[in-house]
This record gives sequence, C-alpha cells and structure tokens, in this order.
Amino acid sequence: MIVVMKPGAPEESVEEVIRLIKETSYQPHVLRGALQTVIAAVGDGREKSRIESLESLNYVERVLPILKPFKLASRETVEGDTIVKVNDVEIGGKRLAIMAGPCSVEGMEQIIGIARDVKQSGANILRGGAFKPRTSPYSFQGLAEEGLKMLAAAREATGLPIVTEIMNPREVDLVYQYTDIMQIGARNVQNFSLLKEVGKLDKPILLKRGLSTTIDEWLMSAEYILAEGNRNVILCERGIRTFETATRNTLDLSAVPVAKARTHLPIVVDPSHGTGYWQYVSALAKAAVAVGADGLMIEVHNKPEIAFSDGAQSLKPKKFDILMKEIAPIAEAVGRTL
Ligand code: PEP
Ligand code: MN
Repeated sequence: MIVVMKPGAPEESVEEVIRLIKETSYQPHVLRGALQTVIAAVGDGREKSRIESLESLNYVERVLPILKPFKLASRETVEGDTIVKVNDVEIGGKRLAIMAGPCSVEGMEQIIGIARDVKQSGANILRGGAFKPRTSPYSFQGLAEEGLKMLAAAREATGLPIVTEIMNPREVDLVYQYTDIMQIGARNVQNFSLLKEVGKLDKPILLKRGLSTTIDEWLMSAEYILAEGNRNVILCERGIRTFETATRNTLDLSAVPVAKARTHLPIVVDPSHGTGYWQYVSALAKAAVAVGADGLMIEVHNKPEIAFSDGAQSLKPKKFDILMKEIAPIAEAVGRTL
C-alpha cells in the first residue's frame, strides 16, 4: 500500500504514520519527493484494512494499493529516476557510467595496466572478478582475497572506483572491505539469501539479469535488496538464453526501455557477456546507449588470447578506446555525455 501525505505535511505526522504502520505486520519505507512524502507500507496483505484506515488521518491525502508485485522498485512508489552515487560517479544521471576491465583479476601488473588504459579512454569504474562463477569446477575460480587486494591497488593507482562480484553470503564482509560496488552475477540473481545479505549493506549493488529470468522476476530480485533497506541498486542486462547459438547469449536490449517503464532504478548493459564475441561488442554497446542505457559494462583485456576467462569476448584497450570515441556522438544524440 502507498500512503500519500498531503503536500507540506509536518514531520510529526509522517512519524505518526510510520508508528501506526509499525504496529501492524507491514514495514514502512519513507520516500521523500520534492512535493510530497510517500510512505510505502509493504506487507503480505493480512492487515490491509488497518493500513487503508490511515486515510482517515488529517495529513494523509490518500492510501492506494501498489499494483506491481515489486513495490519499492516500482515507478509507482518513487518519483523520477534513482541516481546511484559511487564516490564522484553518478549512475543514472546524464553522464554514462562506463565500467570496464578484465573478466578476472589475474595479477597486479595486469589489473593496474588495464585500469590505467581504460581510464585513459574515459571509463569511470573499473571491473574485475576475484570470485568467478565458472561452469566447470576445474576452470580458474579467481584469486579471491589476493585479487581483491589487487583491485584495491588499481583503485589507488587510478582513482577509479571498483565493481567486483560477490558469490557467497559468507564472503560479504570480506568483499565489502575492498569494493565500491558489489556485483551479483547472473547465476545468483535468485539466490535470495545472498540478496537479503547485500540488502543490509550501505554499498551499491549491481544486479545482473539471470540467464532465464523475466524482467519482472529480475525486478523482484531487486526488490529483495531494496526491502532490506539498501536503495542503491543498479540493474545490468547481460543477455538471456535463447535458441540462438551464434552468440553466447541473446542481448535483450528491449529490456532497457521495458524495465525503465517499470522501475526507477538505473540500468546498464553488458554486451560482452551478452554476445560472447569481441567482434560484436562494439555494435551492441552503441545500440545499448541509443536505447537509453545508463551505462555499460565492458570486458577489456590487454592479452585476450591468454586471458584466464572470457578472452573471446574481451576488447583490447585500443579497440575499447575506439569504441569510446564512437559512443560519444551517440550519447550526445540521446542527451547523455561520456
Ligand atoms: C562477469 O561479469 O564476469 C560475469 C561472470 O557475469 P555474468 O554473471 O553476467 O555471467
Ligand atoms: Mn566474464
């Protein structure tokens, strides 16, 4: 349910509504807009009539049902677009967020070198995996804490904030110490205990779409994080599994406008995992910007032929640099900047 306060309702009346909601089995989430304060009361429907009766209070304008199953993620509850801030980078604002770097952190020299290169080309966030979700248990699994330390050193060397994947609720404290954005990978999009755990944190979460999750299921996963109190969720479309085998996944660019119509959360696109082949990455990256993505996540490797993971879909720094130059006029055409 949404409790819409009258414009200019005093703080005490907002506090009063919060207190009354807390007396029920519902949880209040206060959303302060420029004109009006709205309190989303989220619960399982058992005490719906108690929430409806709040409409009789003096400073309450209306009490409405939230029609979408995802409530805090829905455009119904939040005015405008959410902008997630990471140091001085804003994700969801006019400037595009460009996250670039290798699939896996492989060594100190590798990650610092790539970080310098991508920064030079205009990336504003460094990506790199230290815990890798691999299909085979015999494939490289990531450097774990050593890799996190290398990422932190690359941040120190370049000033770029970092995004890295967290796979296990047991590793939340460890990854939290090092990273600026925590990535929940495609395979963990419905790992609800992990989602609840990162929902308790005060760091932004990059939530990838699963290989076979619908847009609404993906938004329900975002809801798990929001419901725990963490409002800094960035969605990432990274391709879904279809009958097509010419590409690793089918990059669903329609997810950008569709999800944007339903949610206020920012959305970035990962054309590297979306296509699986470096040859197609640039075309899809440009298309993603054109359809309104708030940013990109792109795998870049200095020696893709010997990369520990995902070399086939990684751009060399030179190609990434060319892509950034090609993106600039497209960004401008859709009212964005690099
Ligand atoms: C990654 O970003 O390296 C990764 C494993 O992504 P995804 O979860 O989208 O497969
Ligand atoms: Mn990868």
